[in-house]
Order: sequence, then C-alpha cells, then structure tokens
Amino acid sequence: MSNKELQRLPLMEHFYTIQGEGAYTGHAAYFLRLGGCNVGCVWCDVKDSWDANAHPQVSVEHLTTLVKENSESKLVVITGGEPAMYNLHSLTDKLQSSGYQTHIETSGAYPIQGTFDWITLSPKKFKAPVTSAMDKANELKVVIYNKSDFAWAEEHAKQVNKSCKLFLQPEWSKHEKMQLLIFEYVKENPQWQISLQTHKYLGVD
Ligand code: SF4
Repeated sequence: MSNKELQRLPLMEHFYTIQGEGAYTGHAAYFLRLGGCNVGCVWCDVKDSWDANAHPQVSVEHLTTLVKENSESKLVVITGGEPAMYNLHSLTDKLQSSGYQTHIETSGAYPIQGTFDWITLSPKKFKAPVTSAMDKANELKVVIYNKSDFAWAEEHAKQVNKSCKLFLQPEWSKHEKMQLLIFEYVKENPQWQISLQTHKYLGVD
C-alpha cells in the first residue's frame, strides 16, 4: 500500500442514496461525509459534522473499500462538513483509478485540492468563497433563506465561469415560502434552475 493510501480523513458517515439536489438530482451515488467545518452557517443541518475530532480517522484505502463494497453506482460525492479543508488528491486519485466519478460539495471557503469530475459550490455568507474555487465550479448552488439572497446569488453568478450551471435552492426550514419566490424568480431569470432537496420532500436519507 502506498503512503497516499495511508492518508486518513475524518469520516462522519457514508451511505448509498440518490443525489437529491442540483445538476445530478436523481442519480444514485455513494456519499462520503467528512467531519470538520468552521464556516458556521446558522441554519446548518449537519452541525454534528463541525468537530473533526468527533469522527474516526479513516484511511483512503479503507474509504475506497467502503465505496466498492456498498455502492452499485460509479458516482461518489464527497461532502461535509467542509471537505475542501483537506487535501483530497489521494482520495480522488484512488477513487478515479478504481473507476469512480468524483464529485465534491463545498462552500468554496478553501482552495480545492483534488481531482474532481464535478464541483458543486454553495457559497455561504459566514465565510466567503475563494476565487480559485469559484473559477473551478461546475455548479453554483445558492441557498435562498431571505428575499435579499436573490441579489446575493446574482453577485456570485458574476464570479463563476461561463459554463457553470446556476441553481437556487430554498432553505429547508423556510421552503414553503421560498420555493414559490424561487419559482417566480426562475421564470423571470431563466439562466437559473430550481434545486429542491428531493430527499427531504420524500422523507428519506
Ligand atoms: Fe454546515 Fe455546510 Fe455551512 Fe459547514 S458549510 S456550517 S457543514 S452548511
């Protein structure tokens, strides 16, 4: 086993499910949720992820084995927490060389270290995204919590590359109100698409 495969990362949970959000909505995928985040979103629904020390350190080799043993899909989503806090080159190299497509879900608060087939960047007000992450994003997913967030979303849309897909997603605790505003906004601004947290509507993980 190489030194790279011995690198360890804090693993909060791992599970096989259907991607419920954004451009890959509806695709089966294996999720690796890494612990550790210092972005501090007030509405964060995975606050248990914040403390990296609360989660076991798992080797890249073992993470890859978990995926191989439990996934029927060739798509792996690395999420958090804030997975971009870590150098993920070893993990993405190992997954890609094993035939997996690597996706990351990040706030963009850190430069992205790893080889990814798809980068979903969801900017947060509590820690601004870095330029290098914005440049690389394949998908900008802005969570709408207040009406003022539409203007904030437009500010970020100006900073991503031209082929980056644009999504607006209602914050779950306010989704009944915000999804209707997003519905109307996307009709008037069709460069955006609606992203709904399908798994929450279905009541599944
Ligand atoms: Fe929670 Fe994600 Fe915000 Fe971190 S970036 S606080 S994990 S919503």
